[in-house]
Amino acid sequence: MKIIYVDNNATTQVAPEVLKEMLPYFTESYGNPSSIHSFGGNLSYKLKEARAKLAVFLGAAPEEIIFTSCGTESDNTAIRAAISSNPDKKHIITSRVEHPAIKNLYEYLSKEGYRVTFVPVDAKGNLDLDFLYKSLSDDTAVVSIMWANNETGVIFPIEEIVAVIKERGIVFHTDAVQAVGKIPVDVNKVNVDMLSISGHKIHAPKGIGALYLRRGTKFNPFLIGGHQEKGRRGGTENVASIIGLGRAGELAADNLGVESNRVKLLRDKLENEILKSVPNSMVNGDIKNRLPNTTSISFEFVEGEAILLMMNEFGICASSGSACTSGSLEPSHVLRAMGVPFTAAHGSIRFSLSVYNTEEEIDYIIEKLPPIIARLRELSPFWNK
Ligand code: PLP
Repeated sequence: MKIIYVDNNATTQVAPEVLKEMLPYFTESYGNPSSIHSFGGNLSYKLKEARAKLAVFLGAAPEEIIFTSCGTESDNTAIRAAISSNPDKKHIITSRVEHPAIKNLYEYLSKEGYRVTFVPVDAKGNLDLDFLYKSLSDDTAVVSIMWANNETGVIFPIEEIVAVIKERGIVFHTDAVQAVGKIPVDVNKVNVDMLSISGHKIHAPKGIGALYLRRGTKFNPFLIGGHQEKGRRGGTENVASIIGLGRAGELAADNLGVESNRVKLLRDKLENEILKSVPNSMVNGDIKNRLPNTTSISFEFVEGEAILLMMNEFGICASSGSACTSGSLEPSHVLRAMGVPFTAAHGSIRFSLSVYNTEEEIDYIIEKLPPIIARLRELSPFWNK
């Protein structure tokens, strides 16, 4: 059975161009870049090249890039660095719709004695900026606001937010894991102090990420060890994956124009056709202010998990906006923060496309999904037939 993969906010296919560039560094040039001998030592030039490529992609200087193992590590490193560099400040701010890499870290820090402000969003998933600005205080150590939401694709006005935060002299971090590669992200234009990215969301492998650290930002390493990454992140470098991430950054930059518009047209077709043919379905999030590849659609009176399982029978891979916790299906914290009613939040599905999706695949989903929803509703005691 052919797989129709529309779950690219979860992870992406490694681009063939990326894999090709990585392969020699597993079997032929497998040295350690810290070695004195040239078999290993010469690899430091390859790391330098990859760092430069990623820096160009983000509008950064090469020395402002720290390679990490994933987006989660980048997020944890950034927040830990900010609070440990400002030990007298005990207040930290984030939004109510962050990925668990930030949300759960903030909840953990609240148990360690930090006062945490979670900024709310409105029904369309847009951030309450007034609430954010009124929350700032002289005790605030760091503000972390994601660039784009992984579930709804809603984009936050980071450029505007960062201007206000920096005027107050407060450290600002953004989790740009879902934004990079989908919309322009340029740290030359947007004055963030720190920014997290993850390789596997942009067609590089899993297990590689990066933290952008603006020159002059106070920093303490999260992983303390060797001298790698100029002493900012210990651990022998993941050479092949770093090379892959550099190449993925180049490809993503190339794809930002025409290709991302093609993806947006496919996403719009999928969304419009589903809304047209399935009654009681609606989009979650601000449709004018979204990533071009993402749509979160709620189908009232059906369970998201049931939809996923039935789509799976047809080879269609997507995600639901609910998670199974201790046997009960809990709608996601993102949809709850937006006030999406339970009847709709339970039946929400996220479709996230990539440059590898085709129109035939979208047509296939448009054909298969409406009968699935109709069938599930026939079985639902809540559906008014
Ligand atoms: N931040 C956001 C917004 C994400 O969507 C994800 C992954 O889904 C992460 C962070 C974590 O990235 P990683 O899987 O590389 O740790």
